[in-house]
Order: sequence, then structure tokens, then C-alpha cells
Amino acid sequence: MTANPRVPIEEGYFTIPDGDEPPRLLGSRCVACDEHFFPRREVCAKCLHRQTDDVTLSPMGTLYTWTYLHVPLFGSQRAENGYGVGQIDLPEGPRVQSVLQGGPGDFAVGMEMQMELETLRQNEEGEDVVIFRFRPNADAAGGAS
Ligand SMILES: [Zn+2]
Repeated sequence: MTANPRVPIEEGYFTIPDGDEPPRLLGSRCVACDEHFFPRREVCAKCLHRQTDDVTLSPMGTLYTWTYLHVPLFGSQRAENGYGVGQIDLPEGPRVQSVLQGGPGDFAVGMEMQMELETLRQNEEGEDVVIFRFRPNADAAGGAS
């Protein structure tokens, strides 16, 4: 079985690596004050400097807060009728809102989270349409899956 080519649901928010590299969010770094942002922006929101560099952000972060919605994930073919949503603090500074992988018993504020990609559906070209999400980092949690 060969994997379908993957395309992002929206361009410009995250990478889709070919190999074993983790996907990463696409951010910006202010060249004047070093503040990082997600999503990308051209003007710094902290010091209003008008030049930022494109950077890729860490695929790991810390869960700041989360909730669980007992409705289907919009546009997804997931079987479960519910999904987690959380805010993840990245080491570079941005707080990112994301869909979470796992059930309502799987999350705890302060836990280490890892970014990954989820296939929502196939498009008419046979490509997998993917979004980013975060899941609890099993390596840090002693093997919990
Ligand atoms: Zn700045």
C-alpha cells in the first residue's frame, strides 16, 4: 500500500515532510526584538518592526489548557463523535490553538505535546487533505499511548 500525496487544508501554516521528520508550524521571528509568532506575520505585534524572518517552530510544546467537544470534527471522517481542542505553548513563545489527538481522559495541563498531521479526507485528485494536531508525547509520559 502506497501513501497518497498529502496536501495541507490551507497553505502557509505547517510543513508536510516526506520522511521521518516531524511536521512543523510555519512561524515568523521579528528581526528587531526576536519575538516569535504563529501564524506568520510581516509586522511584529510586539514592537511593530516591519521586518520578520520566516522560521519553522518546534514540533513539541506544553499543554496550556484544553477542552473536549462532544460533536464531530468538521470536515473529518473520524469515527468518534468528539474531539479535544487545546492551546499549546511552544518553546519559542507562541501559544497555538490546535485539535488534539486522544480522548477526554488523555490530557492534563502542563503535559508535553507533540505535533503531527491528521488526514481529514481525500480530495478529487486522490490526495490526502491534512491538518495539524497535537497529541500527548508518549515518550515523555512513560509510554502511555
Ligand atoms: Zn519585534
